[in-house]
Amino acid sequence: MAIKSVENFYSEKAKDMVASEVKDLLEAAKSEDIISLAGGLPHPRTFPSDLVKNISCKILEEKGAETLQYGTTMGFKGLREEIAKRYRNKFNTDIEPDSIMITAGSQQGLFLIGRAFLESGDDLVVEAPTYLAALTAFENFSPNYIEVPLDEDGMKIDILKQKLENGINPKFVYTVPTFQNPAGVTMEEENRRRLMELSRKYDFLVIEDGPYNELRYKGERINPIISYDNEKRTIFLGTFSKILAPGFRLGWIMGDRRFLEKLEVIKQSLDICSNVFSQHIAYEYMKTGKIDEQIKKIIRFYEPKQQVLLESLEDYMPDNVDWTTPEGGMFSWVTLPENIDAKAMLNEALEEGVAYVSGHAFYATSPVKNSLRLNFTFVEEEEIREGVRKLAKVVENRLAS
Ligand code: PMP
Repeated sequence: MAIKSVENFYSEKAKDMVASEVKDLLEAAKSEDIISLAGGLPHPRTFPSDLVKNISCKILEEKGAETLQYGTTMGFKGLREEIAKRYRNKFNTDIEPDSIMITAGSQQGLFLIGRAFLESGDDLVVEAPTYLAALTAFENFSPNYIEVPLDEDGMKIDILKQKLENGINPKFVYTVPTFQNPAGVTMEEENRRRLMELSRKYDFLVIEDGPYNELRYKGERINPIISYDNEKRTIFLGTFSKILAPGFRLGWIMGDRRFLEKLEVIKQSLDICSNVFSQHIAYEYMKTGKIDEQIKKIIRFYEPKQQVLLESLEDYMPDNVDWTTPEGGMFSWVTLPENIDAKAMLNEALEEGVAYVSGHAFYATSPVKNSLRLNFTFVEEEEIREGVRKLAKVVENRLAS
């Protein structure tokens, strides 16, 4: 008997899950005639292919089968030690290897956190805008989103405080405090301290997502929120995606060992362990110090691209358009005049030959329609300039119509 409707087979939850329209946009933006400032991919030229080739040969010769065997769910101890060392030395974070679990990218970390902590209907604080795929991960657990807006200094802590005083009761606050995706902004130090104070007073956890922390192009280094935390209320998600290569699918979760024990049990049911071979590659990459050379190269490669984006916005955009001026990361966030809906404008932009992601995709509940995200890492410098020129033309046409 032929299957009449595949829908009938799905769980209620699966029926609700549909592909993001951003996926279609990214597909459309692949056309040769379109300059895509829409994606969020690292540039392939930042991938250390030769190094990976050499390390792969070395570990196969020296360690052989160990690198091809199943590993522990927590991950390869040597790698966890290297991460702990780096966070102690570079980011002033007192962390033990036992408080780190390797994950299949921080995306898996987000799912594990959702699975561990969220009950359907639980209050969950997110930034507005926030990381789109974090929403996709948390969506599996049907939380009640509470949005807290951002400004150039990151999440508006006064507004969070107000909402807490008014009785919201989140288990955790999810934040991307450093070079945020999508807005590029960074939570200032004082606000990191205030967030920790609030977490103690109102008894919630902070989930700190930090994929861009090492990609600083200018300004003073800021330590992650977890380094301001003396009560172990912060769970930090890290990743090798932007400092080695996303194809390895390697990230980590660090935080209170007691939480990690639960997360470990959940991860075991997902994939038993993360890719062991790539964990050994990442270990060599860190242990030999190649990571520092490589990060310097990545920064040298991205910094001028960011500069070109910001200069082109300055040169081409009409006066009543604003944008964030991040000190690192991969994105800038543009705010158009209030009467322009960035989603409605997208077709005109595609016709003109430029793509972006309209802001509405990054809001959990209440989209700000006149916003959009621009990426500068994936395209060449001349294209960034040309892309912004085209975008400015589309905005000007809108304003004139
Ligand atoms: N969090 C944020 C804020 C991101 O921007 C990304 C990657 N774009 C991720 C998590 C997921 O990264 P990974 O490749 O480690 O799964």
